[in-house]
Amino acid sequence: MMNKLVPGDGRIHIESSLMRESLVNRAVAARTDSEQELAILPHVKMVSIGGQSIFDRGKDAVLPVIDEIAALRAQKSHAMVLCVGGGTRTRHTVSIAVDLGLPLGGIAQLVGAMEEANAVFANALLAKTGSIVMQREHFWELPLYLEAGMMPICISIPPYHFWEPPTESPLPAHGSDFGAFEHAEVLGMEHIIFVKDEDGLYDKDPKKHADARFIARTTLDALRAMQLPEMILDHTLFDAWRDARHVKKVQIVNGLKPGLLTRALAGEDVGTVITKSVAKDGTKGARQ
Ligand code: ATP
Repeated sequence: MMNKLVPGDGRIHIESSLMRESLVNRAVAARTDSEQELAILPHVKMVSIGGQSIFDRGKDAVLPVIDEIAALRAQKSHAMVLCVGGGTRTRHTVSIAVDLGLPLGGIAQLVGAMEEANAVFANALLAKTGSIVMQREHFWELPLYLEAGMMPICISIPPYHFWEPPTESPLPAHGSDFGAFEHAEVLGMEHIIFVKDEDGLYDKDPKKHADARFIARTTLDALRAMQLPEMILDHTLFDAWRDARHVKKVQIVNGLKPGLLTRALAGEDVGTVITKSVAKDGTKGARQ
C-alpha cells in the first residue's frame, strides 16, 4: 500500500493511524489492537534448562540432559532454541550487589553475565551436534543458525539492564523463566518447555513440604486464581502471558528423569502442562 501524503500546514506528513496522536492516550492505543501479529519462528520449540535445578547439580544431572538433546539433534526431529539459567552464581552475585547497595537496574545488568557461563558450558558439550551460543540480543541471527541446521543457545535473563522497572523488593523481578518466555513469545513460538529438578508444578514447594500436591494440568487463569505463594516459574511470566499472543503451552518436566524432555517435544502431556485458557467463543480468557 502506498503511503498517503498529507499537505496543508506548510509541511508534508505521512498519514498513519497514529498521526498527531498521543501514544499514552488509552483510546488511541485501543484502536491499534490487532490479532494479526507476525509469528517469526512459529515452528521452533523453546527449551529452557534450569541453572540452579540442573546445571548446579553438576555432571550427574547435566550430562543425561545433554545426551538426550544430542540424541534429538541426531534425529533432526525438532527445530529448537535452548535457553539456560544462571543458577547459584546469579544468586551469589545478586546478594553481593544488594549488599553493596547497587540499584535495581545495576543488578539486572549483572545477572545475565552469570548465565553466559552456562551457555558456554552447554555449547562445549553440544558443539559436536552443531550448537552455537547466540550473542545477547542477536535475534536476527537465529534464522541463519536454524536454516544451517544448528541449535542456538541463548541466555534467559532479558536485557533489561538499567531499564528494569522498580519493584517492592531490591531484586529484579524479570528472571530467567520470564526471559525464556519472552524469547519464545516475541519469536512467535507456541510451546515452551522448562527442564527443572521436579516433576512439575505443585501447590507449594515440594522440597519444603512433604504434602505438596502435584498439578498435572491447569490453565493460566486457574493458576493465577490459585495465587500460589511458592512457584517453580517466575510470577512475571504469568503476568506477561495474559497479554501474550503466541505462546499457547508452557510445560515443566523433570530433567533428572531421562526421556521426559523427548516426550514433551513430541507433544505428550508429561510433567505439568499449563495452557492459555480459551473461552468457548474462541476469545482469550478474562484478564484478572
Ligand atoms: P535458574 O535457571 O534461574 O538458576 P532454575 O530454573 O533452575 O533457576 P529454580 O529457581 O531453582 O529454577 O526453581 C526450581 C525450584 O523451584 C524447584 O527445585 C523447587 O524446589 C522450587 N519450587 C518452588 N515452588 C514450587 C512449586 N510450587 N512447585 C514446584 N517446585 C517449586
